[in-house]
Amino acid sequence: MAFGIPESAIEEIKARTDLSDLIAGYGIQVKRAGGSYKACCPFHHEKTPSFHIQPAKGFYHCFGCGESGDVIKFVMKYEGLTFVEAPMKLAAACGLEIETKEDPEAALRKRQFALHAELAAFYRRCIKEAKEAARAREYLASRDLSEEVAEKFQIGYAPQSADAMLTWAKKHGFTAAELETAGVLKPPRYQGGRWYSPFAGRVMFSIRDRQGRVIAFSGRTLETDKTKMRGGKYVNSPATPIFKKSNVLYAFDLAAGKIANAKPVREAIVCEGQIDVVRCHACGFDTAVASQGTAFTSEHVQILKKVADAAVLVFDADAAGQKAAVSTAGEMLATGMTVRVARLPDGEDPDSLLRSKGPDAFRECLDNAVSIVAFQVAVARAKEPNPDSYDAISRTGRAVLELVKKCPGAVMRAGLMQEAATLLKIPVSALEEDLAKLETEKPRPIQ
Ligand code: ZN
Repeated sequence: MAFGIPESAIEEIKARTDLSDLIAGYGIQVKRAGGSYKACCPFHHEKTPSFHIQPAKGFYHCFGCGESGDVIKFVMKYEGLTFVEAPMKLAAACGLEIETKEDPEAALRKRQFALHAELAAFYRRCIKEAKEAARAREYLASRDLSEEVAEKFQIGYAPQSADAMLTWAKKHGFTAAELETAGVLKPPRYQGGRWYSPFAGRVMFSIRDRQGRVIAFSGRTLETDKTKMRGGKYVNSPATPIFKKSNVLYAFDLAAGKIANAKPVREAIVCEGQIDVVRCHACGFDTAVASQGTAFTSEHVQILKKVADAAVLVFDADAAGQKAAVSTAGEMLATGMTVRVARLPDGEDPDSLLRSKGPDAFRECLDNAVSIVAFQVAVARAKEPNPDSYDAISRTGRAVLELVKKCPGAVMRAGLMQEAATLLKIPVSALEEDLAKLETEKPRPIQ
């Protein structure tokens, strides 16, 4: 169907419009030939008519140039109109009124954007004023998150009571169904039950898109007793008409311009958690972003790559963080981005390091970030009881090659291989040979 025009209207237009009359109406000579009509083709130059019109079927076909179609196609082609303009024009000509509906999806998204903007403001008000938000305010204070930072990142508090949410929504012209679509309220689970909020009593981090519009929330629990914790430490908005977590980078609205203008290299700081990103920005590291409650995907890299040529990964020093760093680096290398990895002191994350040691210590970490190859070699060697044995070197080499393999640029590949060879103290030709072998094998996950 034509975009925004109902199928029924299209059918009505076709039923009401006589194709041979329409074509004749453009001053084209139409001659009867048995049950159908013939004309000299308006779409290619000819002297003998090979343009056949079948009004009963509402269909034309030129045996000379192959053009064919129905009334709408003819008007589009002959007048150079779009697939919305042509039916609109025909509808007017045959006295049919069409209500061009706004794309229902677009209308839905518009409402959700408006709802999220209001919600963010509501949650902000709650964290500042609500009596029950005292613990949330203590949390901000204990985390050294100033009012200024909370305002900049739109950090708020979701009230316990779903009824309070419903009252608020009603006052602001939003329906319970719209709150449900946004994922901030859920309908009763049984008859006579109550609406409830999966975010109830949580500190709410607003997630914004590139344009700075709030599109989702991440709610952090204030419950320290794990047995009482419902839904884990963080609860994120579900997928909605305006939010898909695989293509949102936290704080990208703030960081994109800074990354694009970063000197000497357009390098982004990529963290694991949003609190790390908030801390980075608060301490002046305003090129920091994070993926949103998920591993870094190729979609994330595509977004980042629009403004960045390079990234420095600042992940936790534990095994999970190392694994995430290698997989993220792989995605980035595949697009030709340069990747470095900053190694944090054991047990630290960017937030804790910045708070305990200050910006200079963090800056030093960034300055000392190693290439992804050096990082992968170090990680792989650390797993080996005898890292200098031939076996271990072979496995380490293999781990590096799995990464190098993803890199599309020959120059970059050569550089990475050379570096790995130096680190492993083996000739680069050995790695090249292994890489050639590896490339004929089936892909397997990076270790
Ligand atoms: Zn033709």
